[in-house]
Amino acid sequence: MVNQTSFYKKDLITMLNADEEDQIILFKKSKEITDSLIGNKVHLRGLIEYSNVCIKDCLYCGIQKSNKNTQRYTLSDEEVIQCALYALEHNYGSIAIQSGERTDPLFISKITHLLKGIKKLSNGKLGITLSLGEQTLETYKEWFDAGAHRYLLRIETSNRALYSKIHPNNDLHNFDKRLEALQNIRKAGFQLGTGVMIGLPHQTIGNLADDLLFLKALDVDMVGMGPYIEHFETPLFEARHLLKTPQERLDLTFKMIASLRIIMKDINIVAATALQAIDKIGREKAIRYGANILMPNITPGNFRNNYKLYQDKPCTDENANDCNTCIDARMSMIGSKIGYNEWGDSKHFTNLK
Ligand code: SAM
Repeated sequence: MVNQTSFYKKDLITMLNADEEDQIILFKKSKEITDSLIGNKVHLRGLIEYSNVCIKDCLYCGIQKSNKNTQRYTLSDEEVIQCALYALEHNYGSIAIQSGERTDPLFISKITHLLKGIKKLSNGKLGITLSLGEQTLETYKEWFDAGAHRYLLRIETSNRALYSKIHPNNDLHNFDKRLEALQNIRKAGFQLGTGVMIGLPHQTIGNLADDLLFLKALDVDMVGMGPYIEHFETPLFEARHLLKTPQERLDLTFKMIASLRIIMKDINIVAATALQAIDKIGREKAIRYGANILMPNITPGNFRNNYKLYQDKPCTDENANDCNTCIDARMSMIGSKIGYNEWGDSKHFTNLK
């Protein structure tokens, strides 16, 4: 097992190829780092899936604009406020607002209005993460000024050729524009988060090692990455014969998380919901291997079925309360505590300030 402070692509490939025996050493190392730098505390972001209306056509995503079978919705202001109140009353510390992408002035001002409302009703107590896609610097600034302070925009893959393969519509998708958006998020003052999908068709271990180096070079504050899971109503479903098994994608995700914790010790790492779609305790395992953020879904239950990014998305038939009861039990099962009432900001960001 590699033991050095600066990591090269070949070292990362070794880590990602670790067999069952070497994997134990990898996970032990990442756990040691997490325990000493992050502690056994997990922080929550109550996830509000604001809207599944989307202008993008990502080949893998169930809510891509070309999927005519998706029943489109946008939560009302009142529904969003109720979600935020739920998070506040249950001491979540933070919420995350995620949505299909829209860039029209109405959407932008609606989000600004909601952010101001949530800041006011929580007396500034709720931290706010946004995951609302590519926007202009001006929009990012407007949302930062309105009270959000963390932003997650996945690069999806750092490999340009693979990016083009899964986003072939050049009028809508552009790798350089996505990179520019990441820079603008940071410029606007946000804690910067990005991430990738793991186990995409055509993706190699070398690509994933490059993804880790990309995250390190960008010096991100937080990462949300998870397994790619096929959705039968998307064009990428046709390439399912090229996929690793779900278990292989899961194992690779754990190794990505552990390796990332080793090379970026003090960042926040999300235990992605997609892990739970493959393994009922996939998120708990991810926390054992280096993740420290959970995003319990607090979207009203009747909308969740329409925010199906991939097949078998967990908890679509539940309400926020079901998620809440289960989260405490799940965390105590692995000896972790929830940092209630805390924002749980990225130490990487706060250490740099
Ligand atoms: N529109 C925003 C954006 O582009 O960042 C946020 C919403 S988007 C649906 C959230 C994330 O879902 C994407 O960044 C992507 O990584 C993930 N996702 C979409 N389809 C997926 C799939 N089939 N399997 C796993 N993750 C998927």
